[in-house]
Amino acid sequence: MSLLIKNASLPSGKKTDVLVEGGKISKIGSFSSNAEEKLDASGKLLIPGLINTHTHAAMTLFRGIAEDMELAKWLSSVRRAEMLVTPPQIRAGTDLAILEMIRSGTTCFSDMYFHMDEVAASVLESGMRAVLGYSMVDGGNAAGTQQSANEKKMNSELSIAEKFVKDWHGKAEGRITSSIPPHSIYLCSGELLKKSHQLSEKYGVVLHIHLSETRKEVFDCLKANGKRPSHYLDSLRVLSRRTVAAHCVWLTKEEVKLLAGKGVSASLNPVSNMKLAGGGASPMPEMQESGMNISLGTDGSASNNSLSMFETIKFAALLQKNARWDASVASAESVFQAATLGGARALGIPAGEIKEGKLADLVLVDAAAPNMVPSHSIVANIAYAAHAGNVTDVIINGKVVMRERKVLTMDEEKIVERAQKEAERLS
Ligand SMILES: [Zn+2]
Repeated sequence: MSLLIKNASLPSGKKTDVLVEGGKISKIGSFSSNAEEKLDASGKLLIPGLINTHTHAAMTLFRGIAEDMELAKWLSSVRRAEMLVTPPQIRAGTDLAILEMIRSGTTCFSDMYFHMDEVAASVLESGMRAVLGYSMVDGGNAAGTQQSANEKKMNSELSIAEKFVKDWHGKAEGRITSSIPPHSIYLCSGELLKKSHQLSEKYGVVLHIHLSETRKEVFDCLKANGKRPSHYLDSLRVLSRRTVAAHCVWLTKEEVKLLAGKGVSASLNPVSNMKLAGGGASPMPEMQESGMNISLGTDGSASNNSLSMFETIKFAALLQKNARWDASVASAESVFQAATLGGARALGIPAGEIKEGKLADLVLVDAAAPNMVPSHSIVANIAYAAHAGNVTDVIINGKVVMRERKVLTMDEEKIVERAQKEAERLS
């Protein structure tokens, strides 16, 4: 299968053709080709597909169920809803999420949730790329020792997560890779965290975890373990270059150095953090200074409520600038890179750049839309002015999954209708 993208504009302002063969970018420049499929990109901007490194896709069904609530109340409302969710509802919610993601230019997402076979089936059929894992929770460890609070629960969680890796890693023409996601330090025992790291090493997959999202998490960890969360994870030998830590808000400079030194990637989720009023802002300038890889995530739709990475890119920059009283931090270029190449690096996939040999996960944006004109700074237009509605075409693994705003791999009407119906059953 070959695809020729003709006359596209790059964020650098350069015009180019791009040939895609075998799911990869095989040639960039100006040329003619007898590719099987052609896509005229005149008047359009070609960007790498956006990569969402932290979400819980099926939570789309909870969009709007717990609004304008303080965190503890929000959490208990969401947990109540999660207890009742069935596998068909997870499927309906994930289908809806993937539809929204494709329509907003996301070509890969990293998900941690439950009933993950349903999530994988949705990824398989939709043509999406994803890094998926079963989110493990064993009740944590109130005593703060490194023994498991509940060994039976821990072992069953580990075996579900491992089975998912065995069943799905590398499936869907390689579009699905898997991860090992222990939920967090407050819902997982030390023993579960250690074993999670061993599993991620054994299979060579990402270890995906929530880290330092709230001040409460830090205070509780200090009280129970005498250490801040990053140091606690380090004492369990959990941190490595496979680790993707979601949120990373309440970190000290010491912790940033530690995480950077271990090769940990951060997934910043500014919209979710601000909506739940966690306060503060991730130390992005310090992360950049220490060479830490930074990526962006939306988190679930119960706390965002959108899955648009364009919004996340903008909020990421604005939050940093405002929190630091410094408009020069978190440049347009750096947040756009975090949403593309940073995401690919975090997830260990050869994407996030328009370069020969990289995966053909590409997005076309309407460069003539009123909000995208003029083109003094195309990158600033992408970071601060673009929105999901500007995305016209989406290519994942070399296959066109959306053409002229029509999603080709999914029945949009049916998915929306089914999600609405399944969501009504929740209440
Ligand atoms: Zn999350």
